[in-house]
Amino acid sequence: MNIYLDIDGVILGTRSPKGDVMWLITFLLDNFKGKLYWLTSHCQNGSNRIAEWLSDRFPEDLLQRMVSEIRPADWKREKTEAIDFSVPFLWLEDTPTAAEARALISQHAENQWIPMDPNDPEMAIEAILLIMEQTEDAEGKRMWSYRNEDRFDLDRLS
Ligand SMILES: [Mg+2]
Repeated sequence: MNIYLDIDGVILGTRSPKGDVMWLITFLLDNFKGKLYWLTSHCQNGSNRIAEWLSDRFPEDLLQRMVSEIRPADWKREKTEAIDFSVPFLWLEDTPTAAEARALISQHAENQWIPMDPNDPEMAIEAILLIMEQTEDAEGKRMWSYRNEDRFDLDRLS
């Protein structure tokens, strides 16, 4: 399962509490190693300004992981150019363009978009729940894990 992650309106510029956003990012880093991609205007047309854009906005240890473990996707006109539709994926994005929405629909992949509403303070938590649901295997076995030291427990989510 590849994960494509937008920045503005998703992990920055959102009403979700910073702690929740950090938990979402840590959850992704811990559970989708090697399958995480930035899909943002900060890595468009072969550029990569992600490290400088994120700098000073997250704790240094998390920032290091975000920059080294999430790879920039390459796209020019539409973000969907960078999505590999041949393997399962989830796309965390707040505002896909009309062309991007059409691309998703034409690939029958519209359900793989996780709509991230920056005005919803529960957005980061809801995203974690949606990802957990969508990454259960056919027998309903959880394919994710969380660590005891995370500041949230799953009881809060149910
Ligand atoms: Mg955005």
